[in-house]
Amino acid sequence: MDCLFCKIVQREIPASIVYEDDRVLAFNDINPQGPTHVLLIPKQHIASLNDLTPEHDAIVGELARRAAAIAAERGISAGGFRTVFNTNRDAGQTVFHIHLHLIGGRTLAWPPG
Ligand code: AMP
Ligand code: ZN
Repeated sequence: MDCLFCKIVQREIPASIVYEDDRVLAFNDINPQGPTHVLLIPKQHIASLNDLTPEHDAIVGELARRAAAIAAERGISAGGFRTVFNTNRDAGQTVFHIHLHLIGGRTLAWPPG
């Protein structure tokens, strides 16, 4: 499958990996929007949140908990951080393998652009 993040999972494309287990991979975003900008993905290919089924509930929960754990490791839990899934055109999704952005280490504006 011609999917950038599947290729990172398969080690066909290099990435700065910060966490890995049987189901989840986390790596630094190549164009970071803050001191911490990690992408958390399921190893299983899922194109977007529009493709989720009840079978995916556990993996989505794992992504959220792992994001919080990485934030805790980096000491940004109490100060705060942002977690985002962009879905399709209006949200600016560019890679169609779901990924949870974990952004933090600075004050973030709200609402987003
Ligand atoms: P999105 O716009 O939500 O689809 O986010 C895609 C993200 O993937 C962007 O923040 C990109 O900077 C990031 N990205 C694209 N290619 C790579 C790569 N090879 N390694 C790490 N991050 C990447
Ligand atoms: Zn994929």
